[in-house]
Amino acid sequence: MFDSDIKKSDIFEKFEKVGQRAEAVISLGKLPFGMTFDEILSPTRALVDGREVILAGTNNYLGLTFSEAVKSAAVDAVIRQGTATTGSRLANGTFREHVELEEDLKAFFGAQSAIVFTTGYQANLAAISTLAGRGDHLLIDADSHACIYDGCRLSDAETIRFRHNSPEDLAKRLARLPDEGARLVVVEGLYSMLGDVAPIDEFVAVAHEHGAYLYVDEAHSVGCYGDRGRGLAQALGVLDKVDFLSGTFSKSFASIGGFCVSRHPGLELMRLVSRPYLFTASGSPSNVAAARAAMGEMMKGPDLSRQLMARAHQLHAGLVEAGFVPASPPGPIIAIPRPDELTAVKEWNQLLEAGIYVNLAVPPATPHAKSLLRLSVSAAHSEAEIASIIAAFRTLI
Ligand code: PMP
Repeated sequence: MFDSDIKKSDIFEKFEKVGQRAEAVISLGKLPFGMTFDEILSPTRALVDGREVILAGTNNYLGLTFSEAVKSAAVDAVIRQGTATTGSRLANGTFREHVELEEDLKAFFGAQSAIVFTTGYQANLAAISTLAGRGDHLLIDADSHACIYDGCRLSDAETIRFRHNSPEDLAKRLARLPDEGARLVVVEGLYSMLGDVAPIDEFVAVAHEHGAYLYVDEAHSVGCYGDRGRGLAQALGVLDKVDFLSGTFSKSFASIGGFCVSRHPGLELMRLVSRPYLFTASGSPSNVAAARAAMGEMMKGPDLSRQLMARAHQLHAGLVEAGFVPASPPGPIIAIPRPDELTAVKEWNQLLEAGIYVNLAVPPATPHAKSLLRLSVSAAHSEAEIASIIAAFRTLI
């Protein structure tokens, strides 16, 4: 390993177990992680190894990646402003369009402040780690996404987990806290693995009753729920009470980037101190333009989210009829728990053979160490494509 005689630890030793796990998975067919799509043909079709497959695991909820309006906004931005900003928001990386996108977000959510980040991951990392500092208390749902956990790691606040989707457990834990220090409660809207939704209205009530701020990550729910896709908090009638709402441009917005909006003007100060905001380059002109155009499409009306939900109901009903037990009621994310990881991997390969791509989700990415075949529905799926997905699942049983 090393040329010299000096004894050193093998830096790769710690990956041995994960390597063995990957080998076991690959022995069953294709490696499902980081699979390469040779060509993307549409929001719902791609070429894999020369064969056309139906995409049923892309988070492309509104199917806007191929929208003429979104594509031409992105192309126009490249032509006018080039391919990149080559700098941080604080230095040379704030173009007029970044600011206009922030104004659009404020208007869309009726917020006092809005900050655009380079990814959704960074939005959570930045906002959570900066809002909650030394002596403060972070209370997060146990099923939180990795970037919420990472935001907590980067924060100097104490982190407490409460039971998934349990306002009662949250209330108990808030009641036990000392009076000193600010309190920030973090939940998601639509949970990305099991496709269940949070009772945001109940969380708002419990958080505010106990003097805590509520932060909701609506990465998966903006675009899908609420009037003009303004998310679950809006659908539940509490958008004006949520203190901080974060999201991503990488799903319904058909781009890359993230945001945090707030009913508190104070969020703006974060720009001067938040490391994941300061020390990275800003989103490219084409990313920003695509996100703005996608928001414009959402504002036009409910057709896309209605179409999405109709297809979600069709897929959910078809899978139930085929004998599967989805983890949650019908919604944009439909997760099918499998008995173990190797069964899930085998079935994932069988589905791909049958021309259907779904996500394979396994621990540690999943709650309760579940192995899942995870599907996400798109407004761009045709009824016939959903029927093909169901037909492929029928062959598994
Ligand atoms: N929050 C949640 C709940 C997510 O699922 C994700 C990504 N899948 C993110 C944040 C991060 O978004 P992005 O892809 O923009 O980094």
